[in-house]
Amino acid sequence: MAIIIKNAAIVNIDSIIKGDIVIRDGVFAQVGGAAEAAAEDQVIQADGLHAFPGLVDMHVHLRDPGQTHKEDIISGCAAAAAGGVTSLACMPNTVPAVDSPETVEYIINKANATGIHVYPAAAITYGLSGSGCCDYEALKKAGAAALSDDGRPVESDEMLLRALQEGKRLGLPVLCHCEDLTQAAGGKVHEGRASELLGVKGMSSSSEYGDIDRTVRLAESVDAPVHICHVSTKESIEIIRQAKARGVKVTCETAPHYFIYTFEKVLGRDADYRMNPPLREEADRLAVIEGLLDGTIDAIATDHAPHSPEEKADFVKAPNGVVGMETSLAATLTFMPEKLTLSDIVRLMSFHPAKIMGIPGGEIREGAPADFALADLNEKWVVDPNQLHGRSKNAVFKGETLTGRVKATFCGGRKIF
Ligand SMILES: [Zn+2]
Ligand SMILES: [Zn+2]
Repeated sequence: MAIIIKNAAIVNIDSIIKGDIVIRDGVFAQVGGAAEAAAEDQVIQADGLHAFPGLVDMHVHLRDPGQTHKEDIISGCAAAAAGGVTSLACMPNTVPAVDSPETVEYIINKANATGIHVYPAAAITYGLSGSGCCDYEALKKAGAAALSDDGRPVESDEMLLRALQEGKRLGLPVLCHCEDLTQAAGGKVHEGRASELLGVKGMSSSSEYGDIDRTVRLAESVDAPVHICHVSTKESIEIIRQAKARGVKVTCETAPHYFIYTFEKVLGRDADYRMNPPLREEADRLAVIEGLLDGTIDAIATDHAPHSPEEKADFVKAPNGVVGMETSLAATLTFMPEKLTLSDIVRLMSFHPAKIMGIPGGEIREGAPADFALADLNEKWVVDPNQLHGRSKNAVFKGETLTGRVKATFCGGRKIF
């Protein structure tokens, strides 16, 4: 039996064609043209809908094991499916941290039931404590797909160099959260007008770009690839632009809130607009857009970071982070500058992240796994945190009217949303 999607606009990085999609045995058997349906085939009419390669969200916090009141692998994958995400990399700052083969295996086993491709990033240092490098070979053998101490920088040059060299040798991308904690520890919002008006500690732009500069130079010194997480400042983007120009193997991501919002959002003292790095100035927002347009920024990820309403209640005490997997495609479609095409969005949210991670996905092509989402680009909807599928409600786009909605998500040919 085949599944036949009739009459969709099929979006890839180099084309948009109207036609049918045939899925057989979990892979795309035919893309485009008109398909003949046999009696036993399942036919889905997709007139007016666009078919996108499933999103590859390379920066997600599933909070499992250990903090399942915020999210768990099942609820997080439900949120992913609702947002059109079919592959995700989950970060290792769980409890315990993902620093042992057992924890990697726990995640992979639990994720098996969800229908989503879950790729665990293992810790660079034990417990993300900076106190010693993990056994990367054993972690890879258990199924780890990347290395990261996300949530924290790797402060020791020696340990970061070792991770970069071992990552290169083992084919594991190294995903770097860059932050100078001597400047930024305990910061709540962007340092500048936001921290002054609110009377709280700020996180300066230099605490981000200074550490990006260090990280890029270390990678360059050993000719190893490095990926920079969540860039948010204009200086960060310029540093990466120049590094790419001199041939450094650096890639980077940003998140939708950095090209849509500025620090003005936090002035109402709502902790659902607090994340790390923080929402910054208008000049930074425009620089992020420029970076997306000129190819300096390779990927859009969400840094989906669930926290319970109780934890987010107090503006100052609340932990950093916002959820975003269910709104990333819709928000990007709604707020992106016109210069960015649907094919560009596929490149940024699916094709490039898959390439950086070294995993399948990113295209609707014959023979590729049938990971895709059907979206109605004209449907308007209001983001209601109570209607979201994840466990936490700290949705950065709450209350926004978005244009474009995921109507169905398929992963490995199976309908999961
Ligand atoms: Zn981070
Ligand atoms: Zn993160």
